[in-house]
Amino acid sequence: MDPLEKIKPADGRPILLWGARQLGLSIFGSLTRLGLEAEAFVDSSPDARRGPVMGRRVLAPEEALALNPRPFVIICSSVFQNEIAAACQAGGLAEGRDFMAATDLQKCSWFVDVAGSCNLKCVSCPRGNLPPERQPRPGFMAPDSYTALLDKILAEDPFTGVINLYSWGEPLLHPKLPEIIGLTRQKGLSAAVSSNLSFRLDFEEVIKAGPDYFRVSASGWGENYEQTHAGGDWALFMENLARLKQWRAAHRPQMQVEMNFHIYKNRADDYRRMKDYCREAGFIFRAGHGMLNPLDNVARLMDGQELTPEARLSISLQAFPVEKGLARLAEIKGRPCPFESIMDVGWDGRVNHCQAWFDPETPNLADDFNAATLDEMLAKRLGSSFCQKCRSRLLHLWCGVYGDEGLTAESVADHG
Ligand code: SF4
Ligand code: SF4
Repeated sequence: MDPLEKIKPADGRPILLWGARQLGLSIFGSLTRLGLEAEAFVDSSPDARRGPVMGRRVLAPEEALALNPRPFVIICSSVFQNEIAAACQAGGLAEGRDFMAATDLQKCSWFVDVAGSCNLKCVSCPRGNLPPERQPRPGFMAPDSYTALLDKILAEDPFTGVINLYSWGEPLLHPKLPEIIGLTRQKGLSAAVSSNLSFRLDFEEVIKAGPDYFRVSASGWGENYEQTHAGGDWALFMENLARLKQWRAAHRPQMQVEMNFHIYKNRADDYRRMKDYCREAGFIFRAGHGMLNPLDNVARLMDGQELTPEARLSISLQAFPVEKGLARLAEIKGRPCPFESIMDVGWDGRVNHCQAWFDPETPNLADDFNAATLDEMLAKRLGSSFCQKCRSRLLHLWCGVYGDEGLTAESVADHG
């Protein structure tokens, strides 16, 4: 089937992408590759609206719904899909005729952990809070394997627009990352990178290679940062942020840089300082509550099993306590699982069952991405007892609780 058939109702109307994060960028990229243009993005976050994204305006929801002629909206958020659909309906748009979900176009968001290791040991991350025997084998994906994977993705999921070159690894450690970004762009896809930028590495060639999206993570200011981004070096991090700004201006001005800030207890001042810094630097600032990862740990917590000292430290520093997080799960139980539409491919080609679980013994969807079709892997996941158990305990909603920007803004009394 011609992939454009799926988006026929949009014919001749302005197309709006509701959600200016990875999924929005991915759909933007696929529309462009297929010869269609998105008119603008829509996002409820005031920070996301501070500047253009991929050269397009970012509208507030009320502006989008007031447009005349009536736009065609593609919902580009898997976590808040139901809420956005309800807002569209309340604004007089009808499902199918005026809006659809990106997940009806693109089967999956693709995360490829091209570098299967990290230089840090953040307390909230499995790299820092799971013991060595529960860490997967480190390594780097070879460019040839990566090319084969891209060909498979484009054949089986032609609406893919972005390849996220990370999952639980630090992609800038990959010595051939510029080549990998180049291969991505040669196929008409955008490349997204997420880095801790807390190392002594020259990454100018990475920026020259032309990623479209560059995410940086932080969790505090000064010493606080070094506590939760364990192993990180604040001075080096700030130097690298300045380099990122400088090299973006020199080589890739359209690249979107997003600061993904994790809030921990008593760090409202850190939040404000980083937000101001990002405004000054022209980076998008997004914040969520720091949370215990991965779901392996949350399940152990629910079962009253022992956690590592690092996982316990992560819990003790949380601004939104785990008790509140667990209680909130029941309040949002109607939300879809955001991980069902994510394909997480390791550096060695293994397709993980789910990005939110980490233990190497977690079942996988395929030992190698070539060993099964995408539809087979999706069906395997959907029908699995592993997912059933996860959903029955509402574990699949954990990240939605802590990523809720409204809750986060409340806890640091940020009124815009
Ligand atoms: S930088 Fe990212 S991948 Fe590395 S330890 Fe921290 S959270 Fe995990
Ligand atoms: S239900 Fe759980 S295991 Fe399955 S995809 Fe969602 S988060 Fe992952």
